[in-house]
Amino acid sequence: MYISKLFNGGSPVFSFEFFPPKTAGGDESLRRTISELCPLAPGFVSVTYGAGGSTRDRTLELVSYIKNDVGLETMAHLTCVGAGRADIGRTLDRLVAAGIENVIALRGDPPAGESSFVATVDGLAHASDLVRLIREREMRLCLAVAGYPEGHPEAPSLEQDLAYLAEKVAAGASLVITQLFFDNATYFVFVDKARRAGVSVPIVPGIMPITDLGQIERFTKMCGAGIPRSLRDRLEPVRDDAEAVAAIGVDHATRQCRELLAKGAPGIHFYTLNRSRSTRNIVSELKGEEL
Ligand code: FAD
Repeated sequence: MYISKLFNGGSPVFSFEFFPPKTAGGDESLRRTISELCPLAPGFVSVTYGAGGSTRDRTLELVSYIKNDVGLETMAHLTCVGAGRADIGRTLDRLVAAGIENVIALRGDPPAGESSFVATVDGLAHASDLVRLIREREMRLCLAVAGYPEGHPEAPSLEQDLAYLAEKVAAGASLVITQLFFDNATYFVFVDKARRAGVSVPIVPGIMPITDLGQIERFTKMCGAGIPRSLRDRLEPVRDDAEAVAAIGVDHATRQCRELLAKGAPGIHFYTLNRSRSTRNIVSELKGEEL
């Protein structure tokens, strides 16, 4: 099923993002996480795409497992990193053969140690090129693309980034999923500006429940998102107390989601980091309020 259809239903669509584990232990723990999150009836789940060969195969295995064995609607992430058009075409064929109908088309980050993204020979330079490639191949896929409420770190301005977002959508994407953010004002301003830039598809906020302050500091530095002063002031005094950090993370994310949904966000995409507890607590709370 095309996930874009879920957003016509009027109810908020909850989705969960996972990454392919590198070890057998991680794999077992992810399967447990998925079974613990299943009762929350997510609209769909997604699986990220890594930088190298074996993790990429794991993405394909995992999306196939979740879609065909667990029975959840699944979206595969796909990037242009280190791949030419023919490689990308082969990956797309494998996804379609596995029954996948939804893909988030991404450029990807420069490989570790490199400061700028360079397309391979016969490769693609921007996510919009990937969207166009998929549309040229006339593949029966629903496409999402990434949006950045605080601007993509490489973009000269939010306005320029939004112009490129509009280009990605015009090329054939039917959904935008945002980078994580902790201050809802950035999302609301972003949606407003995106609408004015001609982006009319659903813009789904991406929310990451904080479980580890050091980790979130690294993520935000990498992706250019900010941690509001008031949230940092709550977290700093308990940074070495994992339970206390997770409780604040759940409290903050629940408040964020409640306001986002009340003010019209079409759903919430949770960056779960392959853990179930925080996401389960937040979604149970939100679903309870919905009833
Ligand atoms: P693009 O849309 O191509 O944008 C990248 C930069 O180029 C931006 O600064 C943009 O302003 C600029 N740009 C865009 N189009 C043009 C153009 N035509 N001309 C000039 N400049 C242009 N990474 C992974 O490796 N694997 C994943 O699974 C993954 N999943 C993600 C999921 C979500 C929801 C999000 C928000 C991000 C994800 N990322 C993932 C990270 C993403 O790959 C990086 O943020 C990457 O740096 C940009 O990807 P993009 O698709 O947004 O690129």
